[in-house]
Amino acid sequence: MTAAEDLIATADAHCAPTYHPLPVVIASGEGAWLTDVAGRRYLDLLAGYSALNFGHGNPRLVEAARRQLDRVTLTSRAFHHDRFAAFCAELAELCGMEMVLPANTGVEAVEGAVKTARKWGYRVKGVPGEMAKIVVAGGNFHGRTTTVISFSTDPEARADFGPYTPGFEIVPYGDLTAMRAALTENTVAVLLEPIQGESGVIVPPAGYLAGVRELTRERNVLFIADEIQSGLGRTGRTFACEHEGVVPDMYVLGKALGGGIVPVSAVVSSAEVLGVFRPGEHGSTFGGNPLACAVALEVIAMLRTGEYQERAARLGERLHRLLGELRGAGRVTAVRGRGLWAGVDVPPAAGTGREVSEKLLDRGVLVKDTHGSTVRIGPPLVIGEEELEWGVEQLREVLAGD
Ligand code: PLP
Repeated sequence: MTAAEDLIATADAHCAPTYHPLPVVIASGEGAWLTDVAGRRYLDLLAGYSALNFGHGNPRLVEAARRQLDRVTLTSRAFHHDRFAAFCAELAELCGMEMVLPANTGVEAVEGAVKTARKWGYRVKGVPGEMAKIVVAGGNFHGRTTTVISFSTDPEARADFGPYTPGFEIVPYGDLTAMRAALTENTVAVLLEPIQGESGVIVPPAGYLAGVRELTRERNVLFIADEIQSGLGRTGRTFACEHEGVVPDMYVLGKALGGGIVPVSAVVSSAEVLGVFRPGEHGSTFGGNPLACAVALEVIAMLRTGEYQERAARLGERLHRLLGELRGAGRVTAVRGRGLWAGVDVPPAAGTGREVSEKLLDRGVLVKDTHGSTVRIGPPLVIGEEELEWGVEQLREVLAGD
């Protein structure tokens, strides 16, 4: 047994089997590259599902974390700490908003957004008690808690985990007519991913997000954009909503906000909306901790330069041109996405998405399949152009059966 096989067998024996990882055991990483326990290098085209937008071991982020480790890492929210004010103010400013509700993981922030919208509905909009409705889209992925899987349409995510939380209505993604019909006096919010990541990088039809914005404004409904995966540079803009000139009422952020170092998430909105809370109504021991704030502040500073967004846009164009050639040559059946983010559907003759991912692993490229025949590509935004080209060339050769 190799060292990797031994580690995988031990993990399989002692970890609940909720994942089916590719058979590689990573020991270290730098930039867009990972190294396994045998010293073999791999180009990371997944980037922790966009949590590693700034690459592995980003020196600015590691330094920010290291400096904070030497000072103080956790106070709980029982006390103030000296990184908190800047974190809240600067994150709100980056989003063009006023207030922040800090949390740790993405799904926790989604739960925070759901609670915020319900409370806003009762206290500001005047929805009768217990009647609040939130409209969501089919094919959504917003995380794994019992409330959030209650409005999933993925049987794997839901089956055997009921009873489910009521108060959600599901409409087809991209369908404005269905959205209009679903909004009632009791609707407090529409919760959407501006691009559906886990569903296979599904970009809605042009005009959809702008249409949802118009409808929600007309009907006094909050528009919550879950930009946990699409936000913070991935699509070539700070937020994917910007591609349609849309400003939602609430952003839900996570993943890259913690720089791939610590879990940091947040709901970001206006003072009218987030100001509905009173002390004791919501919280988290680790939410907004000093280490998280120090890393997130550096992430915010890096995004403020626009450099990463510009890079994602430029390299994204290259990525989509190369993938378009594969499509043109009939090697793949569909390519979707925006910026440095793509969902590629592979034809049955090439094998399943999993098989294609395993063949890429053999060639030193890491991607992850989703929904059977889709391979997702979303490298760290710091990847070099030649590295990106090399990665796509490996995909071309795998699909060509070379
Ligand atoms: N929302 C979206 C759009 C996501 O892509 C994800 C994770 O993939 C989540 C929420 C959940 O985030 P977490 O796994 O940090 O709870």
